Amino acid sequence: MTAALLIENLSKRFAGGKPAVDGVSFDVPAGEIVVLLGPSGCGKTTTLRCVAGLEHPTGGRISIGERVVSEPERGLLVSPRERDIGMVFQSYAVWPHMTVRQNVAYPLKYRRTAGANGRGGDIDAKVRETLELVGLGDYAERPVTSLSGGQMQRVALARSLVYRPQLLLLDEPLSNLDSKLRIRLRDELRRILKMTGMTGLYVTHDQSEAVVLGDRIGVMRDGKLLQMAPPGEIYNRPADSFVANFTGASNVLLGKVLTRSGEKATIDLGAAGRIEAWTPQPLSVGEKARVALRAENVRLGERGPANVFAGRVIERRYQGMQTVYDLELGGQRLEALELGTAARHEQDREIALTLPPDMCWAYRDDGATVD
Ligand code: ATP
Repeated sequence: MTAALLIENLSKRFAGGKPAVDGVSFDVPAGEIVVLLGPSGCGKTTTLRCVAGLEHPTGGRISIGERVVSEPERGLLVSPRERDIGMVFQSYAVWPHMTVRQNVAYPLKYRRTAGANGRGGDIDAKVRETLELVGLGDYAERPVTSLSGGQMQRVALARSLVYRPQLLLLDEPLSNLDSKLRIRLRDELRRILKMTGMTGLYVTHDQSEAVVLGDRIGVMRDGKLLQMAPPGEIYNRPADSFVANFTGASNVLLGKVLTRSGEKATIDLGAAGRIEAWTPQPLSVGEKARVALRAENVRLGERGPANVFAGRVIERRYQGMQTVYDLELGGQRLEALELGTAARHEQDREIALTLPPDMCWAYRDDGATVD
């Protein structure tokens, strides 16, 4: 039976360092896939390893289903083996001396969970069904070493699914694959996990993987969970400037808050003029602000109902399927991206452009560089 995961105020501090995980709380309802996304060192793998029981938390509580599996304040720690979890890692972790079928049958034989007495017939049926699920039905008798990287990772996945654990943990499982295979398996992985109804916690630094796979995405930085929301919300309503930047909103315009009412703000961008923006933060009038927006949300050559500006095309980079424009806007830089095989706008020209208020997000400018 697939189970819910609950993480409450989790923290982990390694000897001599600042906390690798710092008061993280979230839940994964049964059957949902949550992806932890963030740059290297943000604490996502440590969080996953704490859930697996491979790392001992220093604080907080982890529950799988009804059972608390870790609560250091009460001296409670359930061993990894007793947590009924499946794991898929970056390295394929298959037995090289076995066939595909033997690899997938191994956990069942080891656990003796197939049927009342772990009878061979039950094991065979479960292995066959799982190999079909991951698209390896015709490969059962092949030595596992004769498979491609993507196929080996499917074997590793089948091996973790065959005994139907309560929870599946996946740690960058696609990073060792070449980019084409990675995209194919990424799309298929969601289908496979959804077919099994498995609860999944998936860790990656790749935003496209997170968006395709996750029912919700949790963005982490410096051990903290900054935002946990469905992909569409992370992409259209980032809670802070780091989340906006990490998920691809690379443009930042600097200014001062002129007015704010609820989630709407007007920012004075100096020579560029005024911009209307959405804000998730209680900005005060007069304080410094940065406005983030995606290159693909700049409407070149358009005069919309609000936020119309005049820009100059400094440089254009034609890339075949799209063109990237570097623009100057009242002394500030702005990148725009237009899809299509024709580059429509000339270099060194003045151009009208619209920055839709809903796609412009204002945040407090704390002076920190966002990289
Ligand atoms: P990556 O994608 O590079 O694996 P991550 O986001 O998964 O990064 P973690 O591996 O969780 O990050 O590491 C978080 C922090 O904890 C880092 O600063 C890391 O150096 C530190 N850390 C992780 N494991 C250990 C350990 N065994 N001993 C000491 N510090 C550790």
